[in-house]
Amino acid sequence: MKAVHAVSFALVVVGAINWGLVGLFNFNLVELVFGAVPWLERLIYVLVGAAGVVLIATHKGDCTVCAGERAVKPAESTAEPTV
Ligand SMILES: [Zn+2]
Repeated sequence: MKAVHAVSFALVVVGAINWGLVGLFNFNLVELVFGAVPWLERLIYVLVGAAGVVLIATHKGDCTVCAGERAVKPAESTAEPTV
């Protein structure tokens, strides 16, 4: 599950930064990198969307910020919250 979370997180970050670039500069990095292979570019978008769904579905269990103290196990209670 950790690998799924890590990959999903990376994809959502890529998607978010790409949307920021599109909004700020009308520059689509995913299109630039993968645009020569349209099906691959489209696959990236689908994977980013799927990653967003995975993070929504698992957020409540994973996020120490949203879950608050209830989600923090005693052994982890002194650790800094991770994002
Ligand atoms: Zn949260």
